[in-house]
Amino acid sequence: MPRSIAREQDLSRPAPRRPPRLTSRRIGIHTSTAGGIHNAAERAYRLGCNTLQIFSSSPRQWAPYELSFPLCEQMLRLRAQYDLKPLVIHTNYLVNLANTNQLFLKKSIEAFRGEVERAMAMCADYLVLHPGSFRGADREAGLLQTAAAIAAATQGLDLMQGGLTILIENTAGSEFSLGGSFEQVAEVIDRLHGIVPIAACIDTCHTHVAGYDIVTEAGMYDTLRQLDTTIGLNNVKVIHCNDAKAARGSKLDRHQHIGKGTIGKEPFRILLNDLRLAHAAFIAETPIDKPGDDRKNVEALKKLVA
Ligand SMILES: [Zn+2]
Ligand SMILES: [Zn+2]
Repeated sequence: MPRSIAREQDLSRPAPRRPPRLTSRRIGIHTSTAGGIHNAAERAYRLGCNTLQIFSSSPRQWAPYELSFPLCEQMLRLRAQYDLKPLVIHTNYLVNLANTNQLFLKKSIEAFRGEVERAMAMCADYLVLHPGSFRGADREAGLLQTAAAIAAATQGLDLMQGGLTILIENTAGSEFSLGGSFEQVAEVIDRLHGIVPIAACIDTCHTHVAGYDIVTEAGMYDTLRQLDTTIGLNNVKVIHCNDAKAARGSKLDRHQHIGKGTIGKEPFRILLNDLRLAHAAFIAETPIDKPGDDRKNVEALKKLVA
């Protein structure tokens, strides 16, 4: 996700009068929580979204936000009012559950437990997690470590009761990062099956730069077939819709505006209209280079729904 994502929409200005365009898909964007978590719901609505993703802590600091109480009731009320579902939380980037340093691993497990507790405190549906970096170990040990750390971090917490599912996100697959293939994401999910509610988040930019063909129509359908035989399309609960600045296979994670990158618009049309993915939430994590870019990217995705 780009750093510029933090720039927030000004809530002091009146809401646009035109009601948001309706769509049969759940479409949203990573939304700023400046001024309080509840403001994100208002912002998402004004951007024309019917789902949203937020951070529940500053993405590159260990200290979590102070949560007001009772957040869950407040968020459920706002989400019902604005028809926002699901609520997706993205885990802080510092959390690395595959860390081989015991001290940092402990810190990551504690931080991730905090992420789970905060997600439950705001009645979120999904908590997205990158499977981590295995520097200092091998990939297989890293995948095992991540699954074990998720189990440890959630011990004694009733996610099922809270309606929270952890989503493992596929990554760009750079040198030591886990999750660069669907098989790796599936392995973490399989290991946690029956231990904690777990499924997947698939990022289009990550998939493309990791080397999968999603640009040609035949390539996209082949990639979807691979996704189905590994993770299972039913288990893909969130699709991060990001175009890419870098080439396919480059392993460089740089998000671009929908239709303006090396992926282009058409692959998003296929994903948004494939009935096997109609249950998923489609959430952009596109850059905000100019004010209004967030609204434009949401609109671009909505226009692709047939
Ligand atoms: Zn990314
Ligand atoms: Zn993503």
